Amino acid sequence: MSIYRLNAEQAAVVERARKVADEEIAPHAADVDAKGRFPREGIDALGRAGFLGLNIPKEKGGMGQGLRVASAVLDEIAQRDASLAMVYKMHLCGCACYVGFPQTGEEYFPKIVAGKHLSTLAWSEQGSRSHFWAPASQATEKDGKVVLNAQKSWVTSAGEADGYVVSTRTAGGTGPTDTMLYLVLKGDSDVRVAGAWNGLGMRGNASNPMVLENTSIPSSRALCKKSEGFPTMLGVVLPWFNLGNEAISVGIAEAAVAATTTHLTSRRFSDMNNAPLSDLPTLRARLAQMRIATDTARAHLSSVLDSVEQPGPQTTLMVLESKAVGADAALLVTDLGMKACGGAAFSRHLSLERNFRDARAGYVMAPTSDVLQEFIGRALTGMQLF
Ligand SMILES: Cc1cc2nc3c(=O)[nH]c(=O)nc-3n(C[C@H](O)[C@H](O)[C@H](O)COP(=O)(O)OP(=O)(O)OC[C@H]3O[C@@H](n4cnc5c(N)ncnc54)[C@H](O)[C@@H]3O)c2cc1C
Repeated sequence: MSIYRLNAEQAAVVERARKVADEEIAPHAADVDAKGRFPREGIDALGRAGFLGLNIPKEKGGMGQGLRVASAVLDEIAQRDASLAMVYKMHLCGCACYVGFPQTGEEYFPKIVAGKHLSTLAWSEQGSRSHFWAPASQATEKDGKVVLNAQKSWVTSAGEADGYVVSTRTAGGTGPTDTMLYLVLKGDSDVRVAGAWNGLGMRGNASNPMVLENTSIPSSRALCKKSEGFPTMLGVVLPWFNLGNEAISVGIAEAAVAATTTHLTSRRFSDMNNAPLSDLPTLRARLAQMRIATDTARAHLSSVLDSVEQPGPQTTLMVLESKAVGADAALLVTDLGMKACGGAAFSRHLSLERNFRDARAGYVMAPTSDVLQEFIGRALTGMQLF
């Protein structure tokens, strides 16, 4: 973890997160996955320890931490329970919007730092699919209020979160990226969860569809200036989303390395004088590949953090790369782990098959790896991204 180069204060925050993760998150991870249930006890534990306020300013009672500490914390949590890490990452993305637009968001800071307000993003829609930057839905205005109608296809923490950062086209707006972000609250009328989550991986996410049907909210719930949803998505949220995803992927890969190491060194062949599985060079080579890919992705994340803190010409490109690098590493590492541990991994004796399933989410969450490659390719060849 020293690769994150934390100062003493930052290291202490991450150490506290590790303790919560060990004591109050890890014990529930297998059950959360098996039952596909929301990891409520883990979120409550993070809330009690103040971690819902990680990126809320210190002067407002939060921890005032940035992407460096968030990445290290997400890495630690994902090593124990990737579903919970994803729920938490979406919360931090939501909070980044509140902090970025305090005229609306500030009202919720006290509840967030008290662990009583969980946030998330409701961006993907049935129509726009993974093209989150161009929602199909469009707000209207009636009696001085904003009216939302949208079919949100996947919302992490749907029905569990207290605040939903909802994207939609601006009322009266013309182009697909003339968008707004609004805060919809749990309990607002005419908002419903429209299905049950039963994912291949990230099974604790509660990433259900949600329907907003003539949902009327005050215009003061805007989380950006008029028509500035698109720049807010890219400028404010994308770094938290992409770097957070890379950190989670690295954490999943780390968990796979640990499970594989334990298995290869503790299980033995009776016909080979009780030699451990690690006596086989093929398996040692697989484990080595896993270690190399995990360390490479974490080092990449560390260099993206440096670039975000000292922005330069490469920063945007590196932020785009980050999620794709993490997703590729997690897919490779968990696949190698499944091969190295054989039937024991396949038959669910280890955490590996959960790591393998959880790892797949990073690739398909928007911006998907395909889309990121397309953006990076466009940037490299001097083309417009959108
Ligand atoms: C576990 C999980 C949690 C999620 N949580 C949330 C959430 O909290 N909030 C939220 O808003 N969304 C969430 N999503 C949705 C996610 O961000 C994507 O929108 C969703 O996974 C896309 O699925 P789709 O079938 O609509 O993809 P599609 O858009 O139909 O894509 C299908 C395929 O086409 C590729 N593709 C699409 N567009 C392009 C392009 N322009 N160039 C090249 N290839 C392209 C994709 O990479 C993919 O392989 C979540 C998804 C998952 C899996």
